Amino acid sequence: MPLMIHQELCAQCGSCIGNCPNRAIIRRGGRVLITDMCCDCGICTRYCSVGAIGKGERRAERDTTRLSQMLAEKLKLTRRIAAMKFVDEIPEGIAVEQGPQFWCALCGDVFDGNGEPLLFTAAASMCGGCANLGLGAKRVAREEFDAALDGQVIGEGNLYSDRDVIARNRDAFPQFPKIYKGVVVGLLERIPAPDLVLFPVNGHQLCVISTAFAFETGELIRGFAGKATCLMTVTVPLLRNRPVFCAGDHGGRMFMRLRDEEILVCFPFSLIPGLVHIMDKTVYANAH
Ligand code: SF4
Ligand code: SF4
Repeated sequence: MPLMIHQELCAQCGSCIGNCPNRAIIRRGGRVLITDMCCDCGICTRYCSVGAIGKGERRAERDTTRLSQMLAEKLKLTRRIAAMKFVDEIPEGIAVEQGPQFWCALCGDVFDGNGEPLLFTAAASMCGGCANLGLGAKRVAREEFDAALDGQVIGEGNLYSDRDVIARNRDAFPQFPKIYKGVVVGLLERIPAPDLVLFPVNGHQLCVISTAFAFETGELIRGFAGKATCLMTVTVPLLRNRPVFCAGDHGGRMFMRLRDEEILVCFPFSLIPGLVHIMDKTVYANAH
């Protein structure tokens, strides 16, 4: 594993356990141990007063090109892997999407292999989903806003019984504590140190991922269905540092060009080095 705990020094106080953002430190067999989900961030070392946490035998893989290759090979993915990086400044050398555009359509381009990184902003967004991406709500006239909301209320093929139901649905998800200038979207191998990694999988591939993750962490991956693709896919991984799988909504599925058998998974990038490593540990990994 990347970092390790020197057992002869460890006082088993547990201070490091609750402070690991990847939940990679566990108690097992009367010892405190670091698992393969460690990403080498080093945060835990700040919480160990006896200096028991040191370097392990290998470093966590951080190279996004290698991680992309390993993920694709181990899962036999047929679509490409997208990454997202939230920024407060426009990065040098990154093209700015002029719009009007949908975030989900940009992801669809990446899944199809057209993954030149683009900066997506609320100004370029065609959709209220920019608020679900931490980019803030686009400014529109009140009449336009009311018409968009009324379009979702039930009747004539619409979705909700009234506006309160729309609000309750939104409140079920965490909200962004800040508004970002934009989000860079592109192929994983083209974005160094991204925040999130997302890609479509089929049922077997989701089974491999979720089994490996549960095996190593003791946690089940949460799944969402019934709301906007951006809301279900982005907020929980970014704000809770947890992976999700997501059915998407009709529009999102269409713009991402998801096939009927495909469902989205989204992981915080910090969990990807561990995920790639632990997939070999399950019997499912070589089953197909
Ligand atoms: S992920 Fe970070 S905090 Fe957790 S064990 Fe590894 S280095 Fe420590
Ligand atoms: S903080 Fe240090 S002493 Fe305490 S459990 Fe973790 S490694 Fe052991």
